[in-house]
Amino acid sequence: MKAIAVQPGAGVPDVVERPVPEPAPGEALVRILRVGVDGTDYEVIEGSHGGPPSGDDRLVLGHEAVGVVDDPNETGLEAGQHVVPTVRRPPPGTETNEYFERGEPDMAPEGAYVERGIVGAHGFMAEYITSPAEYLVPIPADLAEWGFLVEPLSITEKAVEHARATRSAFDWQPDSALVLGTGSLGLLTAAMFTATDDFERVYCLGRKDRPHPVIDVIERLGATYIDSRETPVAEIPAAYEPMDLVYEATGYAKHAFESIDALAPNGVAALLGVPGDWAFEVDGGHLHRELVLSNKAVVGSVNSNRAHFEAAIDTLEDLPDWLLEAIVTGIYGLEAVDRAFPKAAARVPAAGDGSAAIPDDDTTIKTAVEFTAI
Ligand code: NDP
Ligand code: ZN
Repeated sequence: MKAIAVQPGAGVPDVVERPVPEPAPGEALVRILRVGVDGTDYEVIEGSHGGPPSGDDRLVLGHEAVGVVDDPNETGLEAGQHVVPTVRRPPPGTETNEYFERGEPDMAPEGAYVERGIVGAHGFMAEYITSPAEYLVPIPADLAEWGFLVEPLSITEKAVEHARATRSAFDWQPDSALVLGTGSLGLLTAAMFTATDDFERVYCLGRKDRPHPVIDVIERLGATYIDSRETPVAEIPAAYEPMDLVYEATGYAKHAFESIDALAPNGVAALLGVPGDWAFEVDGGHLHRELVLSNKAVVGSVNSNRAHFEAAIDTLEDLPDWLLEAIVTGIYGLEAVDRAFPKAAARVPAAGDGSAAIPDDDTTIKTAVEFTAI
């Protein structure tokens, strides 16, 4: 079968031949339909995050997948059923641990998990995968074409659950939410926040010039676009309003601290970005005082569990088609894999003249690879 693999830090993803996997007892064989590409995949391709299983120099990519059960292998799933796989698995050589037993692998510390397509385990960009049935979440057939968005939506389901939990000791009634970042995670989150009516006013911060399709999406959602070059995060309360919730999806480390100043009293900031090391100055006394005297909270969140996937499937049902079509700017077959990874391909010069093989034209929002036509 065909799969898409990369040697992290040493090349761009390409198509490789792998044997079709054999399901072990308790595992089903799944035929993959589509797999999404996000910022994490680029971090893996560059070699700045994650890596292959030990003993392998290449990693099969992909952690945002939708597929169809090919061989249920007596797991209780049905052949033909559409499923979305979760990402974390117990480390190689172990069957489970306390986090997996509790259904909370997303809370496992480093060393107590691997992540398929990201760190220590091959991913879902292959014609077939196997997985224990407990990690395969059924999805209605009519949502299958967008099923690769369930994983990223589940990231936000978890982060918002944890953010709300920090405010659960009192009567918190949020009105305003600010999403930092206009990448696929930021845009999907802005869409969730507007579609669910959880917030009366939603803002989304980016650094794009008008006119831009991303800004069009934000405004069509009924959210307000804020340009970080004109209004730094800490100045947003003065220019717009203080925010009950800030959702950081830029990976820009200063935003973690500036978010504290963007919050309204009793507000909470959820941090999702995964920056590299970066030393810079902050006024620690000011930030400490703000957190204490204004009852503010900051919470970090990574990955998601099966319950978040189930919530994300419900959310996906509520998102309008125009939005999904606007966010997913390209779905490519195996013959055009380089187009699914424009940010990686853009760095590879085309024949001799130094120009990029595939331009990253800045209008790509989210892509997916299609293994089986839907
Ligand atoms: P992208 O790289 O697609 O998006 C990041 C966005 O942030 C880009 O649009 C970028 O703008 C914008 N940005 C960066 N710096 C600034 C700035 N100073 N001002 C305004 N905008 C800025 O990544 P994703 O959307 O896929 O993911 C977002 C972050 O979340 C990443 O750090 C990723 O690693 C992380 N992540 C975390 C997960 C978790 O479980 N915690 C899961 C998935 C992702 P531009 O387009 O101009 O570059
Ligand atoms: Zn992802």
